[in-house]
Amino acid sequence: MIQDRIAELKKRKNAVILAHFYQMPEIQDIADFVGDSLELSRRARDVDADVIVFCGVWFMAGSAKLLSPSKIVMIANGEAGCPMADMATAGDVARLREMHPKAAVVTYVNSSVEVKAVSDICCTSSNAVRIVESLPNAEIIFVPDRNLGSYVARFTDKKIITFNGYCPTHHRVFIEHVDAARRAQPNAELLVHPECVREVVDAADFVGSTAQIIAYAGASSGKEFIIGTEEGVLHPLKRQNPDKRFYMLSDRLICPNMKKTSLEDVVACLEEGVGAIEIDPGTADAAATSLFRMLEVK
Ligand code: SF4
Repeated sequence: MIQDRIAELKKRKNAVILAHFYQMPEIQDIADFVGDSLELSRRARDVDADVIVFCGVWFMAGSAKLLSPSKIVMIANGEAGCPMADMATAGDVARLREMHPKAAVVTYVNSSVEVKAVSDICCTSSNAVRIVESLPNAEIIFVPDRNLGSYVARFTDKKIITFNGYCPTHHRVFIEHVDAARRAQPNAELLVHPECVREVVDAADFVGSTAQIIAYAGASSGKEFIIGTEEGVLHPLKRQNPDKRFYMLSDRLICPNMKKTSLEDVVACLEEGVGAIEIDPGTADAAATSLFRMLEVK
């Protein structure tokens, strides 16, 4: 079986496999650790291994390399990018800084290495409010996700200046989908990711990162949940809560990039070294500083 081959290769190379919750079930099942962006960043920094195989999209593997520069970090499928990360450039950040010279730049980890390098600090959807509150600046430029930026603005007195980026997967779910899902499942709680548009977030019973959604569903006394984030999260939700029922808010919540990784890709990484990440050292130092600053915020 291909899973046995992966286990044997992993042992031989002293490798670990990190996978995001949005990956296909069979990928989550062979991973040593499955998590959201924040958990995976911490794991990449702390893991004791020579090789990290990252099953996710490019910016995640890039972050793992920035946090563990001495390790070989490979992206299992090098064609798995993130359209939101590609929306903002370092030039966009420079322009915003010129317009708002007193503002700090907080950059969502769903961003390129170049954008991280010109930022003051990174954040994830789990810690964005804490990161913003940790800074002395009264004005914050928030890059690239306008939906997460607007969500953060609800919890702080600081002025949040959002870049106009968005996640195409979460951004194509609307209040009509909420209304239809509520009608179909009137007893279910609605749990959504803050990358969703404002009207959807406003209609939710709980808003959080993928890890926070999983924790909420596990702790809740409720038995039925409508899930407003990428459908890969159903795999851990169902496995951890066999007595509960989960329904997708919309069948549009599938990220095509997160579904590109196959078990064969993982074998190719481990066997042939395909997908090793290299980052320009000048950019890497500055980008890593933004990530390490994030991880230092308690
Ligand atoms: S779900 Fe959205 S933010 Fe996440 S990788 Fe896909 S496009 Fe990027």
